[in-house]
Formats: sequence, C-alpha cells, structure tokens
Amino acid sequence: MLYRALIMLLWFVGTSVATVWIVFRDPTFKFRLVVLGALLPDVVDGVTGARVAHSVVSVVVAMTVVMLLTLGRKPIRKSLLAVVIGLFLHLVFDFAFANTAMFWWPLGGFDFVDDALPVVARGWLNAPLEVIGVVLAIWTSRQVAFAKSAR
Ligand SMILES: [Zn+2]
Repeated sequence: MLYRALIMLLWFVGTSVATVWIVFRDPTFKFRLVVLGALLPDVVDGVTGARVAHSVVSVVVAMTVVMLLTLGRKPIRKSLLAVVIGLFLHLVFDFAFANTAMFWWPLGGFDFVDDALPVVARGWLNAPLEVIGVVLAIWTSRQVAFAKSAR
C-alpha cells in the first residue's frame, strides 16, 4: 500500500508550495521543508498502517511541541513550522476532513481507523490531481524565481 501512496507526490508538492506562496509571498520561505511536511503523513501512515498522521489533532500537537521547544530560537522555529504547515496542508489537499473518525482521531476514541489512506481510496482520480500538482509546482517556482530576481 505504501508504494501506491508514494506515487502520489506532485499533487501534494504543488498544492503545498502554491498555498504557501499565495499566503506568505515570501521567496525565502523554506519550501523544501513544507514539501517534506506535505509528504510525511502518507509515509508515516503508510508504514504504520495507523492514521495518526492524518489527524488534525496530531498537527495541533506537533505545532504545540514545536512552539514550546523553540521558544526564543527563531531560525529553527521557522524551519520546523514550515514542516508543520506542510503536515496541515497535506490534510487539506488529501481531503482528510471527509473521514471524520480519521480527521478527529483520537477525539472520538483511540481505536485506529482501518480505512484505506485517502490517496489509495481516490484511485485513478489521482492522475488529474498529479497533473494539477505539476502545473502548480512550475507556476510557484516561476513566481519565486521572479520575486527573487526582483529583489
Ligand atoms: Zn494522506
């Protein structure tokens, strides 16, 4: 199942970097770390078989831990927050909210959801999403390059 989840890369790469660019307009943003965060949930949950990384509660916990551990350490905080933003954007663009039990785990009980990963459940719908991801990644890299050259 993991290999099927890993096939779906570009949708999460494109949507996460485009969203961060649209929101922050910061060419120095750590886009690679956002991408890392955006790909991590399918790797973690693909390996473990649980759906912990597809829970918004997990993202909130990760955000809280990062904020507490990086008090007064701004550069590392900025990097780790980029990863957390990626984790959250994965949930958004994986439509994880459509599976209430998974999205809100463990608020509805500690039993793990046994459903397929959203990326696996989507099946062939992933193909057009991958194309959109490529377009968004190219668009974002051009926007960032242009913004850097204008500085
Ligand atoms: Zn996922």
